[in-house]
Amino acid sequence: MRLLLLVAAIALVWWSLRLLRASPNRKRSHHTETENMVACHHCGLHVPEGEAVARNGRYYCNKTHAEEETP
Ligand SMILES: [Zn+2]
Repeated sequence: MRLLLLVAAIALVWWSLRLLRASPNRKRSHHTETENMVACHHCGLHVPEGEAVARNGRYYCNKTHAEEETP
């Protein structure tokens, strides 16, 4: 009976070590969360830099706001 408990304990330690090793790989996939946010120069709305409209070094939330600020 003691041997069975020892085997179960070893299996539990091995399993938890495997889980600890696997966790850093999961964190690497969330690189999109760190995208830079920029404020619209016209209305102040915060949008991701990739989706913002850039005009004369300023950012806007959409094309309409960019055209209203720059004739
Ligand atoms: Zn705007």
